[in-house]
Amino acid sequence: MTLSQVASEIAASPTLAMNEQARLLREKGEPVIHLGAGEPKNRAPVTAVLGAAAKLRDADIKYTPTEGTAALRKAVIRYTEESYGKLVAPENVIVSGGAKQSVWNVLYSILNPQDEVVVLAPYWVSYPEMIKMMYGVPVIVTPEDGSFQPRMQDIEQVVGSYTRAIIVNSPNNPSGVMYSRDFIAELVDFCERRGIWLISDDIYHKLVFDQKPWPSPYEFTSKSLEDSKIISINGVSKLYGMTGFRIGWAIAPKKLVAVMINVQAQTTSTASAVVQAAAAGALTGVQSNIEALRLMLQNNRDIMLRELKAFNGIKCIPPDGTFYCLPDFRAYSNDSVALSRLLLDKARVVTVPGKEFGMEGHLRLSICGSVKDIKAGIERIKWAIDPESPNELFIGERKLVRDWL
Ligand code: PMP
Repeated sequence: MTLSQVASEIAASPTLAMNEQARLLREKGEPVIHLGAGEPKNRAPVTAVLGAAAKLRDADIKYTPTEGTAALRKAVIRYTEESYGKLVAPENVIVSGGAKQSVWNVLYSILNPQDEVVVLAPYWVSYPEMIKMMYGVPVIVTPEDGSFQPRMQDIEQVVGSYTRAIIVNSPNNPSGVMYSRDFIAELVDFCERRGIWLISDDIYHKLVFDQKPWPSPYEFTSKSLEDSKIISINGVSKLYGMTGFRIGWAIAPKKLVAVMINVQAQTTSTASAVVQAAAAGALTGVQSNIEALRLMLQNNRDIMLRELKAFNGIKCIPPDGTFYCLPDFRAYSNDSVALSRLLLDKARVVTVPGKEFGMEGHLRLSICGSVKDIKAGIERIKWAIDPESPNELFIGERKLVRDWL
């Protein structure tokens, strides 16, 4: 069979593969605990459901403008003004089928083959794969001190004439760490001086803990949006726990948005009219869902950190936000894929190997689930890898046995 080399080399999504295996095990009645999830269990905001329902009741469901309905773009403009303190024009906004598609459209619209994009490790798995789909080159920068805080001098060292963009996700999937104000300020200045796009994936920007203010790149530029290099990505998936609706957007200079509209017009046309109505409902309704989700996650983060303290040798940089933390398991194993597999096969706990995020020896653990799952999941992981553990663990009637050591 003749296949595209680029497409064939795209890595399978590790999260989706693990989720599928966990689902099959659960179907067989296995007591699987999911610490791999990238979505909370909350229900969608009522205003989102009503927005979609009204559209369905109309039964007048057609193509929308490529860049999104006027109502949703108006809601995005208001959101951007209220949350970022930034007034943008309708021509600066393009709505897509999830922030993932927004990132894809941005990369497709700015990259030529061989162009380089700086990606900061640990990184969201999709960035390097998407860059490769554009025949571009991901250039990974890894903080040497294990802090998950990138340093400007490390970035400067890899930036050259092929560098077209730097992509930033703060607070970060998978570490939960938020980059410092000073770093974001330096990065904006650097990108503007060097004429490099700064793609800021802000998908978790309101899910920040401990009242820490989130530094928006816009705070550090004196340029108008048209002259600035900042591209901002956001969406409803994480903010409102609306992952299944598939709405995201990009805010960028008008010239870039015009190119992105052409790209989208020739690929997916538009996001669905029904879910655009839902997203507009979420953005214009009461915003208490976001705060409820943030508080739930902050509480879960505290519990996760407390439970992880029960491990000798496990280090975990406390997450500042998001759905995740990324503890260092190197005291037990340097092979995160093998460790993650062992935890699913033997202890029935789903985790995501840090290797997939450019951070070998770590595991991404989700704080999206219930307190019960976090506590039981960590207890099982400890049982599985701590040499001092008893040989058997009972989960109800089911007996797990340590037969691999
Ligand atoms: N960026 C990051 C950093 C993410 O973690 C995710 C979802 N896992 C996305 C973008 C994509 O979000 P969406 O569901 O809107 O496509």
